[in-house]
Amino acid sequence: MLGLMQSQPLLISSLIEFADRHHSDGEIVSRRVEGDIHRYTWADVAKRSRQVAGALDGMKLAFSDRVATLAWNGYRHLELYFGVSGSGRVLHTINPRLHPDQVAWIANHAEDQVLCFDMSFLPIVQAVHARCTTVKQFVAMCDADKLPADSGIPNLISYEAWIGKQPTAYNWPQFDENSASSMCYTSGTTGNPKAALYSHRSTTLHAYAAALPDVMSLSARDSVLPVVPMFHVNAWGIPYSAALTGCKLVFPGPAMDGKSIYELIESEKVSYAAGVPTVWQMMLGHMKPAGLKFSTLKRTVIGGSACPPAMIHAFQEDYGVEVLHAWGMTEMSPLGTLNTLKNKQLSLPADEQMKIRLKQGRAIYGVDMKIVDADGKELPWDGKTYGDLLVKGPWIVKEYFKGEGGDPLKDGWFPTGDVATIDANGFMQITDRSKDVIKSGGEWISSIDVENIAMAHPAIAMAACVGMPHPKWDERPIIAVVKKPGMEVSVAELLKFYEGKTAKWQIPDDVVFVDAIPLGATGKMQKMKLREQLKDYKLPSA
Ligand code: ADP
Repeated sequence: MLGLMQSQPLLISSLIEFADRHHSDGEIVSRRVEGDIHRYTWADVAKRSRQVAGALDGMKLAFSDRVATLAWNGYRHLELYFGVSGSGRVLHTINPRLHPDQVAWIANHAEDQVLCFDMSFLPIVQAVHARCTTVKQFVAMCDADKLPADSGIPNLISYEAWIGKQPTAYNWPQFDENSASSMCYTSGTTGNPKAALYSHRSTTLHAYAAALPDVMSLSARDSVLPVVPMFHVNAWGIPYSAALTGCKLVFPGPAMDGKSIYELIESEKVSYAAGVPTVWQMMLGHMKPAGLKFSTLKRTVIGGSACPPAMIHAFQEDYGVEVLHAWGMTEMSPLGTLNTLKNKQLSLPADEQMKIRLKQGRAIYGVDMKIVDADGKELPWDGKTYGDLLVKGPWIVKEYFKGEGGDPLKDGWFPTGDVATIDANGFMQITDRSKDVIKSGGEWISSIDVENIAMAHPAIAMAACVGMPHPKWDERPIIAVVKKPGMEVSVAELLKFYEGKTAKWQIPDDVVFVDAIPLGATGKMQKMKLREQLKDYKLPSA
């Protein structure tokens, strides 16, 4: 017997229609590439995303054709999120921090038909347009009078001219909720990038889950600043969850420096922000010397790489902001776990609670996870035993776009490439990426643990731990550090700082001072590059 409830496909167009009907005057604020602040409402997003859909229909783009963006977080990008996917096409967000050769490769692989770009990225488009053989239309995301006359790009139109003549009414098509809605290529440290291809169903379910109180806890009462880029993994799904909850959205545009972000948080009364640790590092670095405080910020989701405990402490103790440590990946839409305490943990002493909060958190309903040994045997949830982390669920990839890389699943589970522990309460902690873990004398050393201790030293701005070949121990850890401006610390002082904070054999063998740690296109430390930089380095004991 079937249930007798209405059957309605979960489509992204329904999110924007909901926001229009129930939160029409909810505000969307964007810092534009031009530097000024733009304001409008969910009703405007809805109208203009319908015009985007009309423009794509006008071009006779087929169902599932790809429309690419090279854009910051801003209102036009948001309209494309809904207009492209809502009309049945696939939004392909390209990371503008990639090398132009990679941008061209990705655009060709995805067979993008339209490429919309912010004017900051005009030089990239000028460098690659001749190689993007499938692109029929380039759209500069600017006013008609800002379109450069001599760009050298054929078929270039301004966004406003492109959508301007379209009607603001549109009948969103109804189709199978399993149809593709958007795609994102993983940074792919080895081999060619591979694309996760999200569906309307996976995106809508993820949007519901992300808004839950124990996940991102988004509501119509919030003013939300996604610093996490819309060009990578759909800004952690925040644009969709925002339409679902009707929260106010505040977009930073290209101004990602600490001062601009801080000012936007204050001026737009932001209650909730989301971003990777490097962004917050810059903001706290701006606030501390100036003695600045937040007047409205209550919570911040931090993920993408391990959030250093020193940052969780600083946010909580110095600024009264709760940090929600999150973990996920491109292949997971991206949310997998989020750290909020359980009822029974609320009565624990503050230092016990802090130990829990440092972990990457508990699985969200919709994500199942387990840790396994090298033979695939499931390992216990004791908070100590570590193994390869596997996940499954309705917003986790089953295959990459065009079958690239073959079948990624193991018995239906997706191997994350992370090594983790899970405790009896289900709190998962990432020890390392499997390729970064340091194997010393048959034991594993977590590079994240080694980095976190260095990051707690007042003179250290950033730290990366890598293993160096050792004749006796296979590998020994060293820590490469960037000092804070005007601060000094010696090798001996920093090594002494480790004493009592970790087992003796986990203390790095040496400290290397560097001007910068190489960061990838998504702000993660690139240890492969760091290892290349240190290729002539010899351990003192080797
Ligand atoms: P990529 O494009 O490099 O795959 P993703 O954005 O998909 O980048 O990154 C996923 C990876 O980032 C995870 O597998 C994990 O190694 C790392 N990561 C994400 N969040 C965290 C976190 N909170 N703590 C530690 N590592 C994290």
